[in-house]
Amino acid sequence: ESGVALIKSGALTTCTHLPYAPFQSKDDTGKVVGFDVALIDLVAAKLGVTQEIVDTPFEGIKSGADLNSGKCDVAAAGMTITDERKKVLDFSDPYFDATQALAVVTGKNIKTLEELVGKRLGVQGGTTGEEYINAQVKEKSLKIEVVSYRDLAALQQALATNQVEGAVNDLPVWNEYIKANPGKVEVAAGFDTGEQYGFAVKKGNAELLKTVNETIAAARADGTYDRIYKEWIGE
Ligand code: GLN
Repeated sequence: ESGVALIKSGALTTCTHLPYAPFQSKDDTGKVVGFDVALIDLVAAKLGVTQEIVDTPFEGIKSGADLNSGKCDVAAAGMTITDERKKVLDFSDPYFDATQALAVVTGKNIKTLEELVGKRLGVQGGTTGEEYINAQVKEKSLKIEVVSYRDLAALQQALATNQVEGAVNDLPVWNEYIKANPGKVEVAAGFDTGEQYGFAVKKGNAELLKTVNETIAAARADGTYDRIYKEWIGE
């Protein structure tokens, strides 16, 4: 008994948005696994409960709606810490560094965003990648048709089937896609957005946030974080 209040007895309920490999996705048996899942499993263990994952649209996660309504105790969704999101969520200490990247079908010989002028570029709705691209397109007055997809799977499918000429998302998810589908797509360009992922709790849930932060710190200190990193992200 940890004393941390949870919405469901015996469980730490986690909101996420599938698929987002290597952070969260279903394995061959339908079980949700990944880097975030492994870290939150540690939090659940520390609380003496088991993690229960709820798959829900990213919009409800980042807006704080799911945590506020008691759908979940914690959000773990490869979610970047931003000032806007900080207004509606309490974030943990950063647990992962990420940047944005442009992926194209292998052999297109595209190296920059500018080369997509007159073409279609896919992004994932509600993400920092979408925000970054919209800002770039505006700032540089690039005539690129930005097409927004509801999740990562739809975005990757659109790219693989040439519905878009390029697609922007977080670099680690492209690295994972390339590992799983060798030769299909390549990273054409990286954009150093300097993002950091955080887990989130309902605003004011200091007890649970403290447990999350202590668990991450302990995992970093004792090598568990490195083991999980190696398993899901690579060397
Ligand atoms: N890191 C990105 C963001 O926070 C994408 C997250 C996701 O799609 N799960 O917007």
